[in-house]
Amino acid sequence: MSDNRIRQIVIVGGGTAGWMAAASFSHHFANNDVSITVVESTAIGIVGVGEATIPAIRDYYRGLGIDEFELMRATQATAKLGIEFENWSRPGESFIHPFGLFGAPARDVPFHQYWLRLKQLGDPSSFGEYSLATVLAKQNRFTRPHPKPDSPLSVFDWALQFDASLFAKYLRGYSLKRRVVHVDCKVIEVNLRSGDGFIESLTLEGGDKIEGDLFIDCTGFRGLLIEGALESGYEDWTQWLPCDRAIAVPCTNVGPLTPYTRATALESGWKWRIPLQHRMGNGYVFCSQFIDEDDAAAGLLGALEGKQLAEPNYLRFTTGIRKKIWNKNCVALGLASGFLEPLESTSISLIETGIEKLRRLFPDKTFNPALEDEFNRISRLEFERIRDFLIIHYRFSKRDDTAFWRYCRQLPVPEPLAYKLELFRTRGYIVRYEWETFLDPSWLAMYAGFGYLPESYDPGVDFFDAQELRRILSGMRQVIAQTASAAPTHEEFIARYCAAPC
Ligand SMILES: Cc1cc2nc3c(=O)[nH]c(=O)nc-3n(C[C@H](O)[C@H](O)[C@H](O)COP(=O)(O)OP(=O)(O)OC[C@H]3O[C@@H](n4cnc5c(N)ncnc54)[C@H](O)[C@@H]3O)c2cc1C
Repeated sequence: MSDNRIRQIVIVGGGTAGWMAAASFSHHFANNDVSITVVESTAIGIVGVGEATIPAIRDYYRGLGIDEFELMRATQATAKLGIEFENWSRPGESFIHPFGLFGAPARDVPFHQYWLRLKQLGDPSSFGEYSLATVLAKQNRFTRPHPKPDSPLSVFDWALQFDASLFAKYLRGYSLKRRVVHVDCKVIEVNLRSGDGFIESLTLEGGDKIEGDLFIDCTGFRGLLIEGALESGYEDWTQWLPCDRAIAVPCTNVGPLTPYTRATALESGWKWRIPLQHRMGNGYVFCSQFIDEDDAAAGLLGALEGKQLAEPNYLRFTTGIRKKIWNKNCVALGLASGFLEPLESTSISLIETGIEKLRRLFPDKTFNPALEDEFNRISRLEFERIRDFLIIHYRFSKRDDTAFWRYCRQLPVPEPLAYKLELFRTRGYIVRYEWETFLDPSWLAMYAGFGYLPESYDPGVDFFDAQELRRILSGMRQVIAQTASAAPTHEEFIARYCAAPC
């Protein structure tokens, strides 16, 4: 039997995607005869944004055996319990999309059905009052979830807000300790094999060549291998998500460190606010059809809470997906694979799941096309599901105060999303598709936050009479409020466990 195993993996790009891939493969193939090379050009640099994550990031670094608090210290990280959406539904209104559950189900009926009934009875309690993550976040408190499922502290999850450049640096150190070869040089040519058009080698500035069996394109928006050489094509999704520019700028921290990211809807887009230990990350994501760069910059810089720490970073993007994320012997990760605006902090998580999928479908040198097809099929599903989740942020908005919001409210909805929305609207039923990053509690947070509520509720709820229902739900709120108030503040937590050296 001939040995077709992959022996040389070449990763092009040393941003978050490149080093996440290198760290993961060096750990995974620790005892295999596989060489891993990362080629990057520090002269080109990295995109340099991407500070908020979702809880999946913790599975990633724990899978590599990385100590959580060591990583938090190294990346100036804070804890993230969710995202506060401010002024999205209407100016002056806000709600939190937390990482965690709402209330508790009873008699095999989901909790939200009970809340809906109570609401119809005139009870003013908000959906967020039944989420421990939300209540902790509102009080600027943080503690880690309890591992025992019967503990009131087990019902939430958390992620990190970190300095993405420091994260890449940390992973570079991790990878270099595990035999990863690092080449700092610009790739000037991607050489294809005659006959089948697979990538054979890369030519570097200065003339050296690097050969490989499998190439991972982490070159960011330019997609040097996947697009520049292999012409895989790009599907534009701006008909659903029209924002196409961003401006990012850090400032000093002012006030308490919030254990959550804030996304505030603005005139022609939205701005993020991500508090790290050493500074605050800010950015304005906007649609160039409705506001020009100078006005957007003035709006962002004029409203900074602290002192501006660097020149603004101007970015342009096209929301969409690479038509083939895996093409021949090349797999794209990170910005080279597609882009969805950072409204729900999903890009780093997509890098992680891309790595995971590649590991599970890892090819040999024969590159059976079935592996490529399956990778592309499930990657597309995952991108589409996140896209649809982002669309509802715009679709549900009741804002009509600017041309941008009026435009967003009438944008079309993809068919699988329309189906999902209809089933919730009519019966409070949540359709769950394959490869959803955001599960029922996240959709519920959006539905309740935007006031998109069903016409009726589950009749099983009527097992409890109104008085009993009020008593049970009030008890839940009390347990949550008491549990939250016993937790340390976010700043106390950081000082105790993971403060970065000054
Ligand atoms: C405005 C904005 C906000 C974002 N916010 C978030 C967020 O909050 N959370 C989140 O999860 N994600 C966020 N993201 C996405 C996140 O920034 C990226 O997913 C992440 O940084 C990965 O980038 P990358 O490694 O794919 O590309 P890059 O960081 O651009 O790295 C590309 C690498 O390729 C190398 N390279 C390019 N060409 C060559 C060449 N010819 N030769 C050699 N090397 C080359 C470069 O040197 C660099 O090392 C955001 C993105 C944008 C645009």
